[in-house]
Amino acid sequence: MSSVATAHSAPAPLVALTEDEVLFRDTVRQFAQETVQPHVRQMDEKGVFEPSLVRNFFELGLMGIEIPEQYGGGGGTFFEAILAVEELSAVDASAGVVVDVQNTLVNNALMRWTTDDQKKRYLPRMCSDTVGAYALSEAGSGSDAFALQCRAELKGDEYILNGQKMWITNGKEAGVFILLATVDPSAGYKGITAFIIENEFPGFTVGKKEDKLGIRASSTCELILEDCRVPKVNVLGEVGKGYKIAIETLNEGRIGIGAQMIGLARGAWIAEFQGIQFQIAQMATEIEAARMLLYNCARMKDAGMNFVKEAAMTKLYCSQVAERVASLCVEIYGGYGFTKDYPVEKYFRDSKIGKIYEGTSNMQLATIAKLVMGK
Ligand SMILES: Cc1cc2nc3c(=O)[nH]c(=O)nc-3n(C[C@H](O)[C@H](O)[C@H](O)COP(=O)(O)OP(=O)(O)OC[C@H]3O[C@@H](n4cnc5c(N)ncnc54)[C@H](O)[C@@H]3O)c2cc1C
Repeated sequence: MSSVATAHSAPAPLVALTEDEVLFRDTVRQFAQETVQPHVRQMDEKGVFEPSLVRNFFELGLMGIEIPEQYGGGGGTFFEAILAVEELSAVDASAGVVVDVQNTLVNNALMRWTTDDQKKRYLPRMCSDTVGAYALSEAGSGSDAFALQCRAELKGDEYILNGQKMWITNGKEAGVFILLATVDPSAGYKGITAFIIENEFPGFTVGKKEDKLGIRASSTCELILEDCRVPKVNVLGEVGKGYKIAIETLNEGRIGIGAQMIGLARGAWIAEFQGIQFQIAQMATEIEAARMLLYNCARMKDAGMNFVKEAAMTKLYCSQVAERVASLCVEIYGGYGFTKDYPVEKYFRDSKIGKIYEGTSNMQLATIAKLVMGK
């Protein structure tokens, strides 16, 4: 048998990191352990995210990882954003999702679909002091996202928005929202349009904050739009093309949720120390398999390849592994695992969200089935 690969040409293993990536990962890991960890228990109990941590995220450059340096960002890769979410989530999945939504949803959409003028107005803020949120879901439209009812009507130089959004992560902290509304309900998905909304726009208010099972410190809020005035220049992308922005942004975003779940699984696993070796070996194997899906998918995105199927697989599988690992860790701890004396019960509660947001597991399965069956 002839061997084509030589020592020089052999592809690097999927989990191999460059020197820069190792440095970046270790910096975030140290920050998570030293600075985030001390706040985790209280944030979970109170259901409030510690504001100083958000400032720390900006100072460390974690809120604009991929934003080009000319706008004050890190000029980094999507893969680095994934590493950051994994490392933060190993300590606290709420910290992980604050950074995840900022980078993989909001900044991603802003970098890709904005005009030059919008880039100049918003990208520097996203790197320096402004948290972002991504508002698609409504009370009556989650999985069926394009049934959204939030209405946008053009009047002169402004759109007037009316409606409500639900479940919006970072809602309490955010200054900028990417929000999807329809300019023509009779046009179905072709009426959907994306807007850049600032929390100080007239007619915009943040409503009820949900009291949740897991990721309790991450704010999940209702948004209320009552004759909310949005300058026409704040349409993101083209009018009627918001569905494309929503789909493509979420394709990338769900890789971030995979990272959140793999970080969480690792964190629960590290928190574990009593020995039941076969179960531990099984967990280690599943985490490794999930991480390979995740890293490969993030590298595909950076390489400009089509990653839609792999992103759905990543989110589906990483969230399954996270829940299994965290659940098993609760059991391995015995009675203590069920108490708040040990962190495993929190990892277990936090793991549940991975199967729900950015497309439920059923929605991931539907995407995968469609793509593998060539429909
Ligand atoms: C903590 C949290 C944070 C969130 N953050 C955000 C955010 O930042 N921005 C945002 O826009 N949204 C956010 N969401 C909303 C989230 O994306 C939705 O909850 C999710 O998409 C599911 O929608 P739903 O709640 O309406 O459930 P439904 O769509 O009603 O689903 C209920 C069940 O039915 C199943 N189901 C539905 N349709 C089908 C189908 N066609 N085939 C098979 N099964 C189906 C689902 O899989 C699920 O099990 C968040 C939600 C939570 C809980």
